[in-house]
Amino acid sequence: MKNYLFLLMLLVFSVTTAQDTYLQCGKIVDVESGKILSEKTIVISENKIKEIKNGFVTGSDTDEVIDLKSKTILPGFIDMHVHIESESSPSRYLEAFTMNEADVAFQSTVYAKKTLMAGFTTVRDLGGSGVNIALKKAINKGTVVGPRIFTAGKSLATTGGHADPTNGRSNELMGDPGPKEGVVNSPEDGRKAVRQRYKEGADVIKITATGGVLSVAKSGQNPQFTIEEIKAITETANDYGMLTAAHAHGDEGMQRAILGGIKTIEHGTLMSEETMDLMVKHNTYMVPTISAGQEAARLAKIPNYLPPVVAKKALEIGPKLNETFAKAYKKGVSIAFGTDSGVSPHGDNAKEFIYMNKAGMPIIEALRSATITNAMLLGEKELGQIKEGFIADIVAVNENPLENVETLIDVVFVMKEGVIYKQ
Ligand SMILES: [Zn+2]
Repeated sequence: MKNYLFLLMLLVFSVTTAQDTYLQCGKIVDVESGKILSEKTIVISENKIKEIKNGFVTGSDTDEVIDLKSKTILPGFIDMHVHIESESSPSRYLEAFTMNEADVAFQSTVYAKKTLMAGFTTVRDLGGSGVNIALKKAINKGTVVGPRIFTAGKSLATTGGHADPTNGRSNELMGDPGPKEGVVNSPEDGRKAVRQRYKEGADVIKITATGGVLSVAKSGQNPQFTIEEIKAITETANDYGMLTAAHAHGDEGMQRAILGGIKTIEHGTLMSEETMDLMVKHNTYMVPTISAGQEAARLAKIPNYLPPVVAKKALEIGPKLNETFAKAYKKGVSIAFGTDSGVSPHGDNAKEFIYMNKAGMPIIEALRSATITNAMLLGEKELGQIKEGFIADIVAVNENPLENVETLIDVVFVMKEGVIYKQ
């Protein structure tokens, strides 16, 4: 009996001494209602938001109190399109031959940290060498600092398509990559490639439905999958609970992706009004990546930065994203915030808010897109809002972003899963 009492006391003691964190918040943006809440205290216990109290309050002596009285607090941002392993550089095309997997791995940890410090507590990685899967695991374990990652592993392309890993190489080095390497040429290949990604530990599936800007290939917009191939891929991905995304610049490839059951269209650069209607009808989301369009066009103007075949496409396609996004948004297409960081520098993700706002989207809607919408698409019911019971992913900026969108590029406080990474 004495033993039981002792154990009980120990239990009570350990529960009452567990340290909670009290964030005293000047303002909170309630992304759901669009309202600003003033003078609140968010109580965080372990990795969750336990309570939101009125006024500035403190807990017991053992609790930690953080003064954010002069700041505006928001839920951690979610970026639906990054490439965390790499970043644009003049030697990018050479790096495929000079870098080892370990080099890519070390580099990716730097980009992951920059992304988290910019207030992006969750990202969807849409394609790399497979190091992104190892990075996700390392971050989940706590050995590397970075955002929560949902990754596609390797993207799926057709032979010679955007994301065929041996594009632009000499015949000798070209080989004949197949589903294991992410290259598919039939519905059967598509199913195998999805299952292979699942086996490797990917969470989502990305296909390159049309040509792309940065691959060493002539067309940046031709359709590259048949609708049968896309259907085989989305049906298999659905079996495994994997969200699907399609890179697409050209209209025909985009339509096939939508009809083939893809959930998010990345870029959507040359989207026709007919395709916008199709997006609405099928509840397909557009991930605008205006940042990538801006950056690709900028790099194209730097002499010898991009190969000529790439520079030409970047100048043609890049700047079109702004107007297409503006039109699609007005037509009621659902928008999921995403930047394609890796094309643009990691850590600059929040610039996308400014571009979206300039193109006509109210700031609160851009914020909603980067929080509630993206959490919903990822199937994460406890992410994307500051609410009791939600995961404590919380960031702070100096000013009210609804009055000054630029404040979002200067995140001064970052908490992920209840742990403070920037203060
Ligand atoms: Zn991309």
